[in-house]
Amino acid sequence: MKVSLLEYTPNPDKTAAFAARVCYSSSVENINLDREKTRNILRRVIKSGHHSVLEHVNFTFLIEGISRVATHQLVRHRIASYSQQSHRYTKITRESFVVPPSIEEKAKELFDKYIDEALGVYERLIGLGIKKEDARFIIPQAVSSNIVVTMNARELLHFFTLRTCVRAQWEIRQCAVEMLKLAKSKAPIIFENAGPACVRGRCPEEHPCENIREIREFFKQL
Ligand SMILES: Cc1cc2nc3c(=O)[nH]c(=O)nc-3n(C[C@H](O)[C@H](O)[C@H](O)COP(=O)(O)OP(=O)(O)OC[C@H]3O[C@@H](n4cnc5c(N)ncnc54)[C@H](O)[C@@H]3O)c2cc1C
Repeated sequence: MKVSLLEYTPNPDKTAAFAARVCYSSSVENINLDREKTRNILRRVIKSGHHSVLEHVNFTFLIEGISRVATHQLVRHRIASYSQQSHRYTKITRESFVVPPSIEEKAKELFDKYIDEALGVYERLIGLGIKKEDARFIIPQAVSSNIVVTMNARELLHFFTLRTCVRAQWEIRQCAVEMLKLAKSKAPIIFENAGPACVRGRCPEEHPCENIREIREFFKQL
């Protein structure tokens, strides 16, 4: 999987901080934001839950080579826009499949055999004149695609909380961690405490991870 940042709101930290200052300033002319002020305002609004100011900041990502298993989870996040490669219009090839590391390690032969069989039936269906939109019903969920995702910073914080947690499935987690790295490189203040809930306080899970300290350190360094 490859995650790239296609576009983002210029000066994301400052844009959100400016929006917050407008709420509390009698005149916009008096708003003068240096880095320190931007940091203080954003920390305050994020802590107090005044998260609507983060909606002025957007990020657009391209995710290539992600399985349908993972994109199905991704598109459950409703406050976002998506454009995904269509298997109605593009043909599935042998290179199009994501292999989970556990299968790569222990059962690659079995996996490959099944994919080859499925692809064989797919090709035969197409040979019989069946449209790709119907032939694809035979294809396993491991099939990969490319998807463009646009989310605002408010939704991204929520998405990162759920999907960078070790409880999340490995592929969507890998994708979320890459997205967080890219977003944080452009908006280090908005995303300074982004990551699973345990980065900001207590883990809400019934059985928290044993290595919470390492997880916190990982996201701090990101
Ligand atoms: C570890 C994990 C396991 C999961 N397992 C399952 C599973 O077994 N089965 C399953 O079906 N799903 C599962 N999900 C998906 C999960 O239930 C959510 O659908 C998904 O994470 C999208 O998150 P969301 O609904 O919080 O928010 P988003 O769609 O990202 O929306 C963001 C926020 O906007 C608000 N919002 C959005 N739409 C509405 C609305 N219509 N009404 C009110 N408020 C709204 C909510 O506050 C929401 O939190 C799982 C998710 C995770 C992280």
